[in-house]
Amino acid sequence: MTHKIAKKIVGYKVLTKETTAEAAKQEEQQALERMHENVERPEVLVGSTYKIKTPQSEHALYITINDIILNQGTEHEERRPYEIFINSKNMEHFQWVLALTRVISAVFRKGGDACFLVEELKAVFDPRGGYFKKGGVFMPSLVAEIGYAIESHLKHIGMIKPEVMSDHQKQFLEEKRREFEAQHGSSEGQAFPEKAVLCTKCSTKAMVLMDGCMTCLNCGESKCG
Ligand SMILES: [Zn+2]
Repeated sequence: MTHKIAKKIVGYKVLTKETTAEAAKQEEQQALERMHENVERPEVLVGSTYKIKTPQSEHALYITINDIILNQGTEHEERRPYEIFINSKNMEHFQWVLALTRVISAVFRKGGDACFLVEELKAVFDPRGGYFKKGGVFMPSLVAEIGYAIESHLKHIGMIKPEVMSDHQKQFLEEKRREFEAQHGSSEGQAFPEKAVLCTKCSTKAMVLMDGCMTCLNCGESKCG
């Protein structure tokens, strides 16, 4: 290709393999599909449904999150949440649940990092008081349950990296637990010892007093003094 130079040459740059590779990479990045408001909804979406059963209602709640797959079949393939539906026989919460699902779906479709939703929802407290789930996890409200369901979904599709405990940490907690049980009796068949109290970090009834320190047998949080 020839270019006619009509102006004075004031500088020049030699094209190298690196600069052309960089330009190609940038072009590729720009061509990638991303989540934004105007992404058209495909005819078929893949999804997961989570069941929530609380002691506050006899009917379960079913949370369905559907995902869109962007850049399908390429190395940049990613799964992003597209919409959420919540179903229940219980009509008590109908209007605010419907409002919540519409708002959350809108946030999903806007794109960007939707993970903040999880923290916001999990922090909602019900003034009537929360309840404990199996395994000793404290649930402050129904809204928080929805937050946990979205969190496990985002972990499942890789948007939230799960916290992985090292083998060393696991071993340490296992030892602590055995030590505690030796002093206070076995808690076999239960997730955590009966005397355990609520850990503020992981919201699990798994904190025990050992050697003057409150130690969480679930997440390893420790407070001394
Ligand atoms: Zn904990």
